[in-house]
Amino acid sequence: MTSSPKSSFSRRPKRFLDVSESDWNNWIWQHQNRLKKESDFDWLKLSPQEKAGFETIEDFRVAITPHYAALFSDDDPNCPIRQQGLPNVLESNVEDYELEDPLAEESHMPVPGITHRYPDRVLFYVSHHCPVYCRHCTRKRKVSDPNSAASVNQIQTSLDYIRNNKNVRDVLLSGGDPLTLSDDKLAVIFKALREMDHVEVVRLGTRNPVTLPQRITENLCDILRENGPIYTHVHFNHVSEISEESILALSRLRNAGCVLGNQMVLLKGVNDDPETVMQLNRKLLKHGCRPYYMLQCDYAQGISHFRTPLKTGLDIVESLRGRIGGMGIPDYVVDLPGGGGKIELVPNYIESQDGNQITFRNFNGDRFPYVDVE
Ligand code: SF4
Repeated sequence: MTSSPKSSFSRRPKRFLDVSESDWNNWIWQHQNRLKKESDFDWLKLSPQEKAGFETIEDFRVAITPHYAALFSDDDPNCPIRQQGLPNVLESNVEDYELEDPLAEESHMPVPGITHRYPDRVLFYVSHHCPVYCRHCTRKRKVSDPNSAASVNQIQTSLDYIRNNKNVRDVLLSGGDPLTLSDDKLAVIFKALREMDHVEVVRLGTRNPVTLPQRITENLCDILRENGPIYTHVHFNHVSEISEESILALSRLRNAGCVLGNQMVLLKGVNDDPETVMQLNRKLLKHGCRPYYMLQCDYAQGISHFRTPLKTGLDIVESLRGRIGGMGIPDYVVDLPGGGGKIELVPNYIESQDGNQITFRNFNGDRFPYVDVE
């Protein structure tokens, strides 16, 4: 059972006790007060693996908003939220098969800032910054690197590329997190896309409703509304990430006409069991956000400690079927390494087949005969 989400303000760490509620709910204050080094986490009992993580991290920096840090357990290093935010010495383990760019996004880049893999869609990177650097990030090779941020010129070149490619119907703004840009910059990008008749679908990938929900301001929502509908893919991985502030952010996005979908990443020790995914998906549906994808964790370098066997994902999907309506069951997908694109994995419900006589197994394990057409 899950209790009603509390505000992060009411759970704020001791070091922020003097902060006013209005500062806490100001996204710029949250950004400016991000926690970045071991000594910033003085209210936590850090584990030896976390301490060693701070000592061994190299390029992929640590940054955690006070909001997200308030969701951590103070004394349990296995806390699912804490594992996603704090570094771990296991990040130094790089397996032979792991790749710096697991989805070959750089090799499908016709101009800097655009990945064009499928004929009708592009990924448009508008920022390489994020409020929190998630330790499982697929793009850790460049996210958090101040030198890799998209310049104004690069954004214009990307827009020109989309403008000149009339087969592009669907544009996904990504990063990093696009909402690290100012409202003014976002307005320019959305307006430019909306002026291209061939761009029918505009999407926004953002983890701000999880890590910095204060960023979903009325002003931002006005921009989204004016350029809507914006298909907004959020990234909740655990029900404990759904704070009171996140619920307000989701409701503002819905009221701005955004179509909400969640892209959960399957992570060992965080959400790799059916009950955890069930709780998350129920709560998301309650707040108007449809579980869209359950993504197999990619093999970016140094995140093998988060990866789960494919069987885990299949078992979760099978367990959800029959216990929650179809809207609560996300597509379980693997993004194939090397740029092969996404494939969906589904449990096999065919028990046996003899010609057109098939025996299916349902969610309860009961058998049902079925006659297929010739
Ligand atoms: S918000 Fe997304 S892009 Fe940014 S660090 Fe987290 S997973 Fe990576």
